[in-house]
Amino acid sequence: MDYSRQIVAIGKKNHEQLREKRAAIVGCGGLGNFSSLLLCLSGINLVLIDHDNVGASNLHRCPLFSERDIGKNKAEVLAKRLREHNPGIDVTYITKKAREEHIRDVDIVLDCTDTFATKYLLNSMCIKMEIPLVYASVSGYDGQVMFIHKSACLRCFIPNGSDNPCGVVGAIPAVVSMISSVQVMQVINFFIGGKVLKDEVFIYNAKRNAFYTVEVKKREDCKDCGTKENAMDFLTIQPCKAKAAFSIIPKKMHVIQKWEDVDKCEQG
Ligand SMILES: [Zn+2]
Repeated sequence: MDYSRQIVAIGKKNHEQLREKRAAIVGCGGLGNFSSLLLCLSGINLVLIDHDNVGASNLHRCPLFSERDIGKNKAEVLAKRLREHNPGIDVTYITKKAREEHIRDVDIVLDCTDTFATKYLLNSMCIKMEIPLVYASVSGYDGQVMFIHKSACLRCFIPNGSDNPCGVVGAIPAVVSMISSVQVMQVINFFIGGKVLKDEVFIYNAKRNAFYTVEVKKREDCKDCGTKENAMDFLTIQPCKAKAAFSIIPKKMHVIQKWEDVDKCEQG
């Protein structure tokens, strides 16, 4: 792999730093495909974790999978494709649900999963193990990214998130790739000393062409990172009927750009 253009952009020393790092991708679906590809092209070593198999409905947002992969393990197929793209990086894979032992030796974890249960598990695991975590989430037109390390965590941002009881979350490939790009830049910025989304969450709404950065305060009563009882009501999680798993309505937050006309979920 010829990294000369990346070296021009970030400098040789920073590039060499990246080449020594290892990131774990948990969840090898849409976000996992795009984020692992971008990390691979930047020369970062990878551990891919997913117990699930490729399904037909994954293909439209997974550029590295094709029809011949249906029924095969996602992490295994992804590892094969990434090794073809860049044989110069080390790519390993785990075909099980993420556990502490899988991420013990990595420098950072990328949350590319799509259920709150797994997201909360990763959140508490990474806080306990003091491993930086980059949370990312995509739902229909909406996407979010947050960097978590010695800062407010996912539970501070969304204390009691629950998955859409309807089960199916819509996904637009362009929104997935956009959120992956922001997620991967958190990794690169962290490794080379740039700014990361610490104590703030990046929110993208593709329908409005809108980007927001919203401050998230550490909750003292947080189950995962807090120290004492002190309830703070600063978010409302609104379940949506069909088009998204949830939408987030900021209440008492510092918002760089005002979000006054929040898109209400369309009924039906
Ligand atoms: Zn917390």
